[in-house]
Amino acid sequence: MSVDDFIGLGYLVAAALFVLGLKGLGKPRTAVRGNQLGALGMLVAVLVTLLDREIVSFWQLAIGLGIGAALGVLLALRVEMTAMPQLVALFNGFGGLASVLVAAASFFEAVGRGSDDLQVSLAAALTALIGALTFTGSIIAFTKLNESWDGPTVPAARIVNIVLTVLSAVAVIAVVADPDERLWFWLVVAIAAVLGVTITSPIGGADMPVVIALLNSFSGLAAAAAGFVLDNSLLIIAGALVGASGLILTAIMTKAMNRTLVEVLFGDAPASGGGMDADEVYAGKVTSTSADEVAMILDTAERVVIVPGYGLAVAQAQHAVRDLTKALEANGSEVVFGIHPVAGRMPGHMNVLLAEAEISYDALVEMDMVNPTFEQTDVAIVLGANDVVNPVARETEGPIAGMPILDVDKARVVVVIKRSLSPGFAGIPNPLFAADNSMMLFGDGKAAVVEITKALAEV
Ligand code: NDP
Repeated sequence: MSVDDFIGLGYLVAAALFVLGLKGLGKPRTAVRGNQLGALGMLVAVLVTLLDREIVSFWQLAIGLGIGAALGVLLALRVEMTAMPQLVALFNGFGGLASVLVAAASFFEAVGRGSDDLQVSLAAALTALIGALTFTGSIIAFTKLNESWDGPTVPAARIVNIVLTVLSAVAVIAVVADPDERLWFWLVVAIAAVLGVTITSPIGGADMPVVIALLNSFSGLAAAAAGFVLDNSLLIIAGALVGASGLILTAIMTKAMNRTLVEVLFGDAPASGGGMDADEVYAGKVTSTSADEVAMILDTAERVVIVPGYGLAVAQAQHAVRDLTKALEANGSEVVFGIHPVAGRMPGHMNVLLAEAEISYDALVEMDMVNPTFEQTDVAIVLGANDVVNPVARETEGPIAGMPILDVDKARVVVVIKRSLSPGFAGIPNPLFAADNSMMLFGDGKAAVVEITKALAEV
């Protein structure tokens, strides 16, 4: 067997492992195994690629690996668990940038050799387009997730985006028509980089999950396009798998938000604040409660639904909430978790946190299934969630208008645990806090849940 055959066989094994890994990731019970299979596939892919005689020197690889690994370890050690969504956004962005650089080097080298292969120039232009857009779009997504975005709103964003999209298509055609002129390639990169900013910056808070999923998909598509430039089958397969699964996730997120992709990407920026004044919404209407009072109410509750949100991640309250669940079940209550598809700051955020605390998957009930049960629910505990339970979404205008929410307000009693009356990610006041059947337990999510569990034992 020649070295090339061996590399081909290795790539086939790696590709099969990627597919099996993805399949495993589809179900919580097999997810860990799926992750391990994917990692094994990547190891096989890297090892057999080292046999390729056309790769750059081992020294250069070792230096790149050293720098990358050092940065990766540093980031992994320093990043707070709550900053994981931002880190994932950055990884997507750097994936896009890496694809642009790899495609540029390979494309310029091929053109230098006198090759005018249409596949190579088209793939290089598409890599430049998707990769550069992914890079700058992800940087903006990073700042938004970090809640440090303070940039200007692009005026007439819809028209600017359409014009830039047309210009980028023209520049792609120029690369294909005149591959010897490097300027066209960099022009595609420049237009796409601006487009990444103009598309992502006006997107309203609550629509961010769609953008995150789409950028994730784009980072895969950029890698697949770079695979065509390098003529590397495994990069094409791996990139296509990431691209396709990201697109499926994007479809799930748009459905969850009751939006279309075109509305999210090319719509005008949503009005901020939804026209609501916090003082007016809450004035004299909020009822505060204590852990002791909540424990007394829970003591007689037959059915309890816990709705976790981003505050659960900030408070790292998942273990405390598992203990409360056990105490309630021991007391005879039925307890389930109502999971909104965009709760938290990344797709599946709540599922991951609750799984970490070994809360049974059977207790996690998706929005469509749990909503009809709120009317038979004695107590809904809203733990660090805000936008996903905001009844303002039922109105026809505003940043979260039309987004399906968890109908906690239909439960007999609603206990909202958070530190203040401040709004959620979309920045709009939440009338749920002032509803007649709502009580606010102000404080850190974990401390509050621990206190309730303690008080429940003493009731
Ligand atoms: P929100 O961001 O709407 O609200 C979270 C709430 O948690 C805040 O109001 C905050 O209130 C509270 N909180 C923060 N820290 C603590 C703490 N230590 N203890 C208790 N409470 C705390 O979260 P939701 O999950 O309801 O909604 C998610 C939002 O994020 C949606 O708008 C969604 O579109 C968006 N998003 C989702 C992404 C995803 O992929 N899932 C990605 C990007 C954005 P206080 O400060 O008063 O405590």
